Parts: sequence; C-alpha cells; structure tokens
Amino acid sequence: MTFPLPPNATIGLVGGGQLGRMSALAAARLGYRCHILTREQDSPASQVSAATTISDYHAPDGLREFAAAVDVISFEFENVSAEGLDLLASLKPVRPSPTILRISQDRVLEKTFLNGAGIPTTPWAPVQDLDGLHVAVERIGLPAVLKTTRLGYDGKGQVLLRRAADVRDAFAVLSPKPLILEGFVDFSHEISVVAARGEDRSYASFDTVENRHRDHILDVTLAPARIAEAVDAQAQAIARRVADALDLVGLLAVEMFVDPGGKVLVNEIAPRPHNSGHWTIDACPASQFELHIRAIAGLPLPPAVRHSDAAMKNLVGPDETALWPEILATPGLIPHLYGKVEARPGRKMGHVTRLFPKGALPGEFGIAAALGPAAPQSLGQRPSD
Ligand code: AMP
Repeated sequence: MTFPLPPNATIGLVGGGQLGRMSALAAARLGYRCHILTREQDSPASQVSAATTISDYHAPDGLREFAAAVDVISFEFENVSAEGLDLLASLKPVRPSPTILRISQDRVLEKTFLNGAGIPTTPWAPVQDLDGLHVAVERIGLPAVLKTTRLGYDGKGQVLLRRAADVRDAFAVLSPKPLILEGFVDFSHEISVVAARGEDRSYASFDTVENRHRDHILDVTLAPARIAEAVDAQAQAIARRVADALDLVGLLAVEMFVDPGGKVLVNEIAPRPHNSGHWTIDACPASQFELHIRAIAGLPLPPAVRHSDAAMKNLVGPDETALWPEILATPGLIPHLYGKVEARPGRKMGHVTRLFPKGALPGEFGIAAALGPAAPQSLGQRPSD
C-alpha cells in the first residue's frame, strides 16, 4: 500500500483506550477502517472499530496477526516494548517512528533529546542508587521530584522531596527502578501544545492551552491559555522545534511549565493525541484526532484553527460519572463518554466541553458557571482571574 492511504484502507492502532476510540471515530469520517491491538475485551476503541486483535503488546504472534491486517500502524499509548516495536516496524510502516516512541518512553532519553535540541527543561539528573540520589539532590537542590524513568503517568511513579530527610524514603518507594531527579518547578501555569507534522513536512499546531490537574490527573483544559504573548510564542516555537528535531510524521503533545519568570520549560512529550487536545473535537473544524489520522495516512494537513474558545472538563471516577444525567440535561454542555463499564476511582470515563465565542473565554467564575453540574472545585477560587 502506498501513501496517501486510499479510502477503505485499514489503520492499525495500538491501544484500546479513549484516545484510540476518538482516533477511530475521526478515521471513520475520513473513510478508513481501524483495527485495534489491545489486551482488553470490549475496549473503548474496539467498540467503534472494524476489527480487534486481542493480544499482549509484546507477544510476537499477536503483533504479527495485527500487522498483517493493517496498512499503517500508529499508537494511542506509548508503552510498547522495544522488541515489539521492532517487530511491528519490520512488518508495516509505523508512524510516528519507533525512534520517537523510544524517546518518549524514557524520561532520561527524552530530556537528553530535548536539551540536545536546545529546548529548556528543569534541571535533572539520572539516579542509579541512594548515593547518586544524594549527589543529585546536592546539585539540583530541594524541593525536587523523584520519578521513575519509565511507565509513569498521571503522577504514578513520582515522589516530591521537600527536605533532606525525605530522600531515603523516596528512594525506597521507587527503587529498584531506574530513576530521574528533576528540579521542582514552582510554575504559574501548566500549558500544552498539540502539533501535527505531515509526510511532506507540513506543520500545524493548535493554540496553546492551559491545564489544571487534580490528584495528578488532568481535570480541566482552557483553550486558549491565558498567558502573555511572549510565553505563548515560546511554547509554540518549542513545539515546532520538537516536531522538526524528531522529524515527526504524526501528531504529538508537548506538556510545559511556565516558571515564575515567564520562561517555558518542557515537562514531557507524548507522540499521540492528548487529553489536553480533546476540546478540539468541538471547537475546531478539524480535531487533533483528524490531524493524527491525516498525518499518519499521508493526507494533507488542514489548518489547526479554532472557531470557538473552550473549556474541557474530564469526568473521572464514579462521583463525576454519576453527574452524567445532569450533564445531559444541561443545554450547552457537549458530552463525551468512552464506553468504559466500570467507573473506578481515578479512571477517565468521559469529558464535557463548553464552547464560548472566540476571544470570549470568561474568567474562572464564568467558566465554572458555564460548566454547570460538571464545574470543578479548582475553578472559581481565584476571583482576580
Ligand atoms: P508527569 O507524570 O511528569 O506529567 O507529572 C504529572 C504532574 O506532576 C505534572 O502535570 C505536574 O503537575 C507535576 N509535576 C511533575 N514534574 C514536576 C516538576 N518537576 N515540578 C513541578 N511539578 C511537577
């Protein structure tokens, strides 16, 4: 099969979660079929896709069966084993490239790549053992965040070190896994940019957005971010540099901190659609999921423009999922549910988006009021905003 993929071609997506589900819905609109590789029966992505291979992500037989059935392979999550990636790449085109996946899987590789490309991060050091952690703490100072280099997400695999007395316990909690120590950033904002780069090196990025977390899980995204123009320019330039330096074909998200001096530092990159881009489904003519599918299929990239401002609220765990009937009964809230049967605490079950006229994103109280039953506690507490 050659690129651009013709209508009715099959896109293979590794991972069965909501990112795969929303990618598959976008792919269907472009006339493609999706085939999902997942360990789960009845996954959110499988529910809306043409076919599924149920397999471990490193089982050669499952990977072969999946690859044989598809024309291109992409991802909705990054944690496929190195051998699994190599096998898939030997069988079918993999977009984004396995190199990009490998960099994003490992915080040390990721920060080495970023700094090598001249992109600023908080100071960091790899940590091998307890002595090494003491040395790293000397150099970086406290507070600092100790993280596992791999497989961390939503705050899992990380511990905040406030005092020297925390060092030993933090190490005991996370070792023997490979670790990284990062300087704690007393950020004014957490922001992100979702960007796509095509086969022809064309580039499109959505507006910079502001992200609020609760219990380390994304709670709210505000689009656009309410940040100074100079900060926005740094964020957009960084996303462009990351995409170019990786020679990306596909879509990625760059998560960043704005430090107290207004300098933008990259926290991490995710070479896939991202939770902080869900607002684009409702506020943009072409969403992050459409750009993802277009980029990996070799189609032209449309502009990543928005027709509206937006506030996106995740629905996490049983309590927020229980709001569903009220959400459905509230005019103006755009509901999205992911088809997960069990609402465990901390599990992302769906999201809601509220649109505002472009340029008219209200202050915190206004957004909280507009989100109605889905309003998060984190909004409306800073009346000066
Ligand atoms: P991560 O798993 O690296 O995305 O971290 C999850 C969340 O923890 C981030 O979104 C931040 O809110 C917080 N965090 C992570 N690293 C740092 C850091 N170096 N300084 C301050 N906050 C951090």
